[in-house]
Amino acid sequence: MHDVIIIGGGPAGLTAGLYSSRGKLKSLLIEQGLIGGLVTTTEWVENYPGFEEGILGSELARKMEKQATRFGLEIINGSVTGVSIDGKTKRVVVDGDRQYDTRALILATGAHPRKLKIPGEDEFRGKGVSYCATCDGAFFKGENIAVVGGGDSAVQEGIFLTKFAKQVYIIHRRDKLRAEKILQERAFANRQIEFVWDTVSEKITGDDKGVTAIQLRNSKDDRRSVLDVQGVFIYVGYNPNTEFLAGLANLDTDNYIVTDSNMSTSAPGVFAAGDVRSKPSKQIATAVGDAATAAIAAEKYIEENF
Ligand code: NAP
Repeated sequence: MHDVIIIGGGPAGLTAGLYSSRGKLKSLLIEQGLIGGLVTTTEWVENYPGFEEGILGSELARKMEKQATRFGLEIINGSVTGVSIDGKTKRVVVDGDRQYDTRALILATGAHPRKLKIPGEDEFRGKGVSYCATCDGAFFKGENIAVVGGGDSAVQEGIFLTKFAKQVYIIHRRDKLRAEKILQERAFANRQIEFVWDTVSEKITGDDKGVTAIQLRNSKDDRRSVLDVQGVFIYVGYNPNTEFLAGLANLDTDNYIVTDSNMSTSAPGVFAAGDVRSKPSKQIATAVGDAATAAIAAEKYIEENF
């Protein structure tokens, strides 16, 4: 029996693990992919306090992992396929066959990139279509890239891609960006970035070598156009990783987990933290704050219930 099981190894999960293992609770973190989660897909992080010049996303993840495991956090790799509650015990099934029991459970499974759902997107995934500039940007040296979206991710990653690309087109469906002002200013000042406003992406086309173009439609006058690009980076938001919960805790209309201010979900002893939680701001700094709150609340729950 563990005291705390944490599902998800991004900043929220690692912070929950740091707090619970440092609090001498027997703690296990389960991660299906890379430790660090989405942070590892960000090249440079400059709004996480404590690193005055900024820090590589991968380096920040590595530091968080080292700090958490220093206090005894156990980390295993596997995909959680089921979660259930038996009395006060929470049961976590990994990869369909391994079973782990715990007194408290912290859900920190984050979110995954939303698809654009247009023809060519799946066909050319990995052959020009990407959801991760840090992972794939270097493949596009001297080429033209389209970035779809108008939020922080699209603009931040669009700027990053100018390190490699000849020209980056940021294609946005409206004429106003959602991204924070400092990113907007940098993008507007960057000569390698051209904004394509009020424009919907309709189709990604290519040949056996990969993407060659993206077909567009202006949403105001319906005029169609084609941009010759070799890469298409899609940043149109995220969907929460909550499918495996199967009704265990209440979700909002977009399937994010609903919590109170202590990060408690509707299931007693089950907490949620980070991007998987229903909340307005999704930042590394807010994720680690959620996680500290969740771990402290989990400790109190264990004291009062076991
Ligand atoms: P987001 O804020 O949800 O923005 C998604 C963008 O994609 C919006 O501009 C949206 O357009 C557009 N979009 C959505 N569906 C579309 C579709 N079907 N076709 C075309 N465009 C579509 O997502 P995000 O930028 O990935 O950010 C997610 C969260 O992480 C946010 O809370 C953000 O603040 C945070 N984040 C922060 C940083 C940072 O602090 N530097 C970096 C990355 C992410 P509309 O604007 O018209 O809705």
